[in-house]
Amino acid sequence: MNYNAQYCTKIMNMTKITVAKGDGIGPEIMDATLEIILAAGARIEVEEIKVGEKVYLSGNTSGISAESWDVIRRNKIFLKAPITTPQGGGYKSLNVTTRKFLGLYANIRPCRSLHPYIKTKHPIMDVVIVRENEEDLYAGIEHQQTDEVVQCLKLISRPGCEKIVRYAFEYARQQKRKKVTCFTKDNIMKQTDGLFHKVFDEIAKEYPEIENEHWIIDIGAAKMADTPEAFDVIVMPNLYGDVLSDVAAQITGSVGLAGSANIGEECAMFEAIHGSAPRRAGQNVANPSGLLQGAIMMLNHIGQTDVAEKVQNAWLKTIEDGLHTYDVYKEGISKVKLGTKEFAQAVIANLGQKPQQLQPVDYGNSQALNLPTYKRKPAAKKELMGIDVFVHWRGESGEELSTITKKLNTHQAQLTMITNRGIKVWPEGFKETFCTDHWRCRYKNPKGGSITKDDVIEILQNALRENVDVVKTENLYAFDGVPAFSLGQGQ
Ligand code: NAD
Repeated sequence: MNYNAQYCTKIMNMTKITVAKGDGIGPEIMDATLEIILAAGARIEVEEIKVGEKVYLSGNTSGISAESWDVIRRNKIFLKAPITTPQGGGYKSLNVTTRKFLGLYANIRPCRSLHPYIKTKHPIMDVVIVRENEEDLYAGIEHQQTDEVVQCLKLISRPGCEKIVRYAFEYARQQKRKKVTCFTKDNIMKQTDGLFHKVFDEIAKEYPEIENEHWIIDIGAAKMADTPEAFDVIVMPNLYGDVLSDVAAQITGSVGLAGSANIGEECAMFEAIHGSAPRRAGQNVANPSGLLQGAIMMLNHIGQTDVAEKVQNAWLKTIEDGLHTYDVYKEGISKVKLGTKEFAQAVIANLGQKPQQLQPVDYGNSQALNLPTYKRKPAAKKELMGIDVFVHWRGESGEELSTITKKLNTHQAQLTMITNRGIKVWPEGFKETFCTDHWRCRYKNPKGGSITKDDVIEILQNALRENVDVVKTENLYAFDGVPAFSLGQGQ
C-alpha cells in the first residue's frame, strides 16, 4: 500500500517518520500497525528504510547502511519492526548500535495487565519500567587480562543518572503517576550504583508531590514479580532494566503485547519488545499489538495524543471483545481467533469506541517531555591518594606476592593491601580463600596524604625491573576530600 499517496496529500501538519519493516513477522505487523494508525487519522508521512537480515548478509556487519542513518537522523522519529540478527559471530546488534549512536538514553516500557481478557497471575498491574539505555555494563568495554581472568567495565556517569532519573520523575508527573521507585545494588557497588541512588535521592526532592522509594534490586525484583501492584514507575540502570522489563512484560500475560520507546534528546525510536519470530513469518498469524503499542507511544511523543488515545481505546475494546490473535487466544476467555490482518480490521472497526470494562485511556498532555539539558557542576578538588596495580602472577599466596611487590614501593607510595577478585589476601589473609592469577596490589601514602604521578611512574619502572607483569593500574582519588574508591572485602 502507498500510505503516503493515500493520506499525506489530504492532511496538513504531517510529521515525517522513518519506518523499517524488519524481518520475519516484521512486515506483516508493521503493515497492520500503519493501517490502524492511519485509519485513526495519524498525521504522518512514512519514509521507509531497509535494515536487518538482508543488510547484514550483504556484508554490512551493523545491519544498516550509511544512507539509512541519514534518513533516521533527518526525520528523528523512527518506528522499527523487529529484525533478525544472523547467527554466528561478527554481527553487531542493530538495537544497541541505534540506541548508542542516537543517544537514546531512556527506554520506557509500560506493562499493564488486561485481566480478565488476557490470562495473567497478576490481574492488577500497571507498571512502567524506565531503563537507562546507554551506560552500565553495556558500554561493552571488556578485556582479558590474565590466563584466568576477564573483566567488563561498568561505567555510570552523573549526566547519565541525572537524565534518566529526571525523565522518570517528569514522566510520572505528566502521566499523573503517584510513585517512582529506584532499583540498584548499591549495598555492593557503592560507587557505581551508589551514584545512581544518590542522584535519585537528590532529584526526588524536586518532586515532592510524587512518592519515592529505593529497593535493593534483588528483593525489589522478587517483590515486583510477586506483588506488581505495589509499584508504579520503576527507574533502574541498564542491565537490571533489560532483565526486569522483560519480566514485567511477561507477567502481565504476554511479551507479545508490549511496546517500548527509546528516547533521546534529538531522536526517538519506537518498537515492539518481542523479536522477529521467523517461524511465524508470512502466515498472517502474528500479533501486531506490541508494535501498535510502540506506535501509540510514538504518536504521543509527536504530540498527536488525540490519535494515540483513539487507537489505544479501540485496541482495548478489541481485546475486551475477545477478538484475539493465536498467541493470547484462550478457550473460555477469547471469542474469535483472528489473523494479523483481521485483527487490524477489528481494531479499525472499533475506532471511536471505548472499552466498557477495562479502563479507557485519557492521554491529555502526553507529548515529548522537555527536559532541561544537563549542566556540568564545578570541578571538585581531586587528589591522588594511591594506586591499584593489577598483576598477572601464577603464585599461590598473597603473603608470597607481598615480598615481591613491596620492592615496587616508592618513598611516598607503599604496598598496603593485596586482594584477589576483590577479597583481601594480604595482610592477614585466609589460607582458605581461592586465588586466581589476577592480583590487585594497592599502594598508598602510609601517612595518609596524597601521592604524585611521579610515584605511579616509579612504581611501574620498579615493576619492569623486578619482572612483575602489570596488566592494568587504577588511580585512587579523593574528590573534595572524600575517598572515591572501594575498600578490599575484609579490609
Ligand atoms: P521472538 O520474540 O521473536 O519469539 C519468541 C516467541 O514468541 C516465539 O514463540 C514467537 O513465535 C512468539 N512471538 C513473538 N512475537 C510474536 C507476535 N508478535 N505474535 C505472535 N507470536 C509472537 O524471540 P526469538 O525467537 O528469541 O528471536 C527471533 C529473532 O528475533 C532473533 O534473530 C533475535 O535476534 C531477534 N530479536 C529482535 C529484536 C528486535 O529487533 N527488537 C528483539 C528480540 C529478538
